[in-house]
Amino acid sequence: MQLAFDPADMLDPAGVGAVGDDGRPRPPRRLSPSGASTFEQCPRRWRFRYVDRLPDPPGPEALVGTFAHLVLERLMQQPPSRRTKDDARRIARALWPEVSGCDDFRDLELDDEQAHEFRWRAWRAIEGLWDIEDPSGVDVRSTEQQVSVTLDGVPFRGVVDRVESEPDGLVISDYKSGRAPTARYAPGRLQQVLLYAAAIAAETGEQPVRAQLLYLGQKIVSTEVTHDELEGAVEQLSSTWHAIADACHTDDFSPNPGPLCDYCPYAELCPEGQAETVRRSELRAAEEESLLKLAG
Ligand code: SF4
Repeated sequence: MQLAFDPADMLDPAGVGAVGDDGRPRPPRRLSPSGASTFEQCPRRWRFRYVDRLPDPPGPEALVGTFAHLVLERLMQQPPSRRTKDDARRIARALWPEVSGCDDFRDLELDDEQAHEFRWRAWRAIEGLWDIEDPSGVDVRSTEQQVSVTLDGVPFRGVVDRVESEPDGLVISDYKSGRAPTARYAPGRLQQVLLYAAAIAAETGEQPVRAQLLYLGQKIVSTEVTHDELEGAVEQLSSTWHAIADACHTDDFSPNPGPLCDYCPYAELCPEGQAETVRRSELRAAEEESLLKLAG
């Protein structure tokens, strides 16, 4: 079993970029929210992952999220009366052998104590659903729905965690096990579900009324799906699509050093990223030293 970090990429790996016979990167045939977001964060990282196809193994945090997603997906496929914490626990137990046997999990090389801690973190994320909603009250239309549409000329592909019906229309939901954003960063995070809303509208002709991120155990970050919101999200997607095409044409994928370099799996291949990591670490050490001086 391979636990996909980005399910949309796993639908058809040939859809992502690759090197042509002339050695130049070929533009991708389609774009997922994760691919777009990787390029927006750092074009060079996008090249490493989607053109060179270097491994980007999920760390423990991502795998905890994947496990929680799997359990919640199965839970929400049950009738409403069978969406209790006990049901979720049963599903988690049934899925655990599959998850703990997958290559990505084995690659983490966790000892017994760490594996126990992993299960607890996953369970805390799963039961965090009841902190933010009553799952038995959700009218589920679909789970893990694959969407494949053209948005403003961009072949877009994704997997929507959950589509539900509410009295005023459809709602698009995506589970998140990471930390919820502050108000300042929420609009950027909502781009993904707005794109799903645009895709569902294009596929079904029914425009969702709301798109939301379910930050398990924390809060729901949501937005109304208006014409302007959809247009903004699709414009951003289109701009990223064209920027990727330009970068492939010129084979120029600039690095974008920043805080994410600390977690980049390709840092060893990237002098700018290494310099940034050293710079940030020296900055932290200097700050700690001045704090110690102040305290003394
Ligand atoms: S180390 Fe930083 S700059 Fe280099 S590829 Fe990774 S994210 Fe980009």
